[in-house]
Amino acid sequence: MKQVFNFSAGPAVLPRPVLEKVQKELLNYSGTGMSVMELSHRSGPFEEIIQGAETLLRELMDIPEEYEVLFLQGGASLQFSMIPMNLLGEHGVADYVVTGSWSKKAVKEAGKIGTIHQIKSPGDIPAYTKEDFSPEASYVHITSNNTIEGTRYTTYPETGGIPLVADMSSHILSEPIDVSSFGLIYAGAQKNLGPSGVTVAIVRKDLIGKAPETCPTMLKYETYVENGSMFNTPPTFAIYVLKLVLEWVKENGGVAGMEALNREKAGLLYSCIDESSLFSNPVPEASRSLMNIPFTTDSDEVNKLFLEQAKRRGFEFLKGHRSVGGMRASLYNAMPLEGVRALVDFMKEFEADQGG
Ligand code: PLP
Repeated sequence: MKQVFNFSAGPAVLPRPVLEKVQKELLNYSGTGMSVMELSHRSGPFEEIIQGAETLLRELMDIPEEYEVLFLQGGASLQFSMIPMNLLGEHGVADYVVTGSWSKKAVKEAGKIGTIHQIKSPGDIPAYTKEDFSPEASYVHITSNNTIEGTRYTTYPETGGIPLVADMSSHILSEPIDVSSFGLIYAGAQKNLGPSGVTVAIVRKDLIGKAPETCPTMLKYETYVENGSMFNTPPTFAIYVLKLVLEWVKENGGVAGMEALNREKAGLLYSCIDESSLFSNPVPEASRSLMNIPFTTDSDEVNKLFLEQAKRRGFEFLKGHRSVGGMRASLYNAMPLEGVRALVDFMKEFEADQGG
């Protein structure tokens, strides 16, 4: 099989050993004689999978007891609605820091439910303090890593006690975070957690149970709490793979191990771009993402040629988001160091061919 390195922003690369295990177990999960996809979600083996996934996530992220871990569906995008439905409370006001396209989408949905104050912060992300937020806000929402723009928070906002809600879809488990400084963390799985179809929410218990009576059952967090994330049929296969991914993270040094590797990978690519006279990255150094690295040349034609040649060499999905253009390399946890080394070598070779 041709060797391919997958730089997609999502659904994204999964660890090879995880895929191999899935393949090995696919027709006969743990001696049951059935595929994991065929098992009832009420069966013992599946109970073990979902509980094992929660235990591992708690261990890896050091999630305190006063938080619930929920497995939801509808992607991170459904959280754009569920969060205001459950958390807005009587004031009906929340603050949203807008650092990119996904924050804007979150604002759009929340604006249908309550009054949203926007704090716009394109480019560099400053260290926010409580003076930046409205005292009446029920929560402050941030996108902690901006998948499209390639920026991330290095200092999380100090909100003066207002619950901080973070969309961590594109960098959960990529570097250690202090869960206790957040009210709610959510992430679609399909980047660092597993396949698409499951969404993880880590919710402080005191924020649960505040949705109005009229809120549909499936959109209330307490429904998932009361039913162990199994009020209805959960995405069983996705949760099974997620558990295997968490095992892989644990075996590879946990979140600290992921961070060390991520810093090395991102450092290699940023150095290559910064030293190049052909490629550039527009992001201020202090806010650079470790996960999503956009870069470009100053010619659409050269970008196109680069992408064509890259694809032929086995570098997949390097095209930048349609709203930004150019290129983007997503270096999630499962991207091996050798993939980034190979990309950097190819970029240098391409630049030399261009007369750089
Ligand atoms: N938030 C961020 C930061 C994302 O990167 C994405 C998808 O790329 C989403 C939300 C949307 O996620 P989903 O497709 O799971 O709804």
